[in-house]
Amino acid sequence: MKIFEERIVETVVDRVCDVCKESVMTDVGEGRVEEFGELKAKWGYGSKSKEDGNTYHLDLCERCFKVALLALKDHKRSLFMFDDDENNLPDEKFGLNSDRC
Ligand SMILES: [Zn+2]
Repeated sequence: MKIFEERIVETVVDRVCDVCKESVMTDVGEGRVEEFGELKAKWGYGSKSKEDGNTYHLDLCERCFKVALLALKDHKRSLFMFDDDENNLPDEKFGLNSDRC
């Protein structure tokens, strides 16, 4: 015999970018998929800026992810602009995972 009861179940119905608040859900065919980037950090005792125990997690839409990526790319360029080794300068593949499945 099956015994039933009503339960309230929380279900993810949307996911929004933590910067611009736009949905990261995209309609694909008859379904919806999440297209997002994440920025995460978990700092410990060795943190240089006293972030011990702090964790960060930002969900990012594609546009805001690109803004963050460009900011990091510019920062890296400024760090190595006078470096003799041109391999230290970011290129168009900066951050791109080359071993994606
Ligand atoms: Zn966004």
